[in-house]
Amino acid sequence: MCDLSLDGVAQGGCSFDWDVADPEASLVDLADRLCEGWLHEEVWGGWPMCPNHPTRPMWADVGEGGRTIWACEADPADAIEIGQLGV
Ligand SMILES: [Zn+2]
Repeated sequence: MCDLSLDGVAQGGCSFDWDVADPEASLVDLADRLCEGWLHEEVWGGWPMCPNHPTRPMWADVGEGGRTIWACEADPADAIEIGQLGV
């Protein structure tokens, strides 16, 4: 079970099973669920947004070399490792 709170306010939860055999896919799945279930609703315009394309939300993906990334649909070069956005 995954419980979520934003700014200290409980938002609910979802069932989630972490696959220890494929942690990259598990992280991408969790990030995607959080974005689709809460963050795109609670944060105006969506979250996270691309630093180079401020009107475009990014999505979680597994990139080259198995890196877990936030990907930008406008420019693949904007990909940022999950946890490195700095926002
Ligand atoms: Zn971008």
